[in-house]
Amino acid sequence: MKQLIESGRFSLEEIRERVARIHRLALARSPYLKTGNFTRIHSSDLQLLFDLYDQSFFEGEMRAALGNSPLRFRISRRMTSAGGHTVRFTPRGGHGTTKYEIAVASTLLFQAFADDSHRTISSCGHVCHDRLEALQRIMEHELVHLIENLVWSSSSCSAPRFRSIARRFFGHTESTHQLITPKERAFVQFQVHRGAKVRFRVDGREYQGIVNRVTKRATVLVRDEEGQLYSDGHRYAKYYVPFNLLRVIREK
Ligand SMILES: [Zn+2]
Repeated sequence: MKQLIESGRFSLEEIRERVARIHRLALARSPYLKTGNFTRIHSSDLQLLFDLYDQSFFEGEMRAALGNSPLRFRISRRMTSAGGHTVRFTPRGGHGTTKYEIAVASTLLFQAFADDSHRTISSCGHVCHDRLEALQRIMEHELVHLIENLVWSSSSCSAPRFRSIARRFFGHTESTHQLITPKERAFVQFQVHRGAKVRFRVDGREYQGIVNRVTKRATVLVRDEEGQLYSDGHRYAKYYVPFNLLRVIREK
């Protein structure tokens, strides 16, 4: 496999054809991915993509290099900034088998190409036209991590070796995605950002507070004598509030 990875190279035209074929085959074979902008996804879809990429780009050598090492696929709803994540689990003391896991962030995919999307989506230096294309870019990136782990036992997407493999096999010119994170969406659609003064209602009561953190929801700190003591000397209670329930209070 090392030789294939070090010397392999595809033209942009070849990459386009193979990637488009994988897009077609994934939609034809997956019971979950019905259209390019699928609304359901299952970890078996990642397995399906893995096999299609292994055949189209690596002559089945990824599977062969894995040997008996298990490779698990996972859809993560909690990852909100990275598009994917590849982990290598090494056994303690060198006994037992190494295991691998590839996780993909479904929140980012589902927010991309939503009806209310406000901008073009690109990933790894390519504009993506639907969710499946964005998922393919994420998978391609994670496959390079897996390959580096298999061949060299370590991987870094900011290092030259990674960039070279990603460029020669998949035409990637960047290591990052520009998928829409919940943080960006919160800001663009609802003007919610860290430090914003907001009000919201819970069970008919109105509260005012400060946004302390933005993930899938906003963490809002509300002054509360019973609450936890913070470094500013005040006590606050914490609320996790969906963005659409927050009203930003503008300072005059
Ligand atoms: Zn990476």
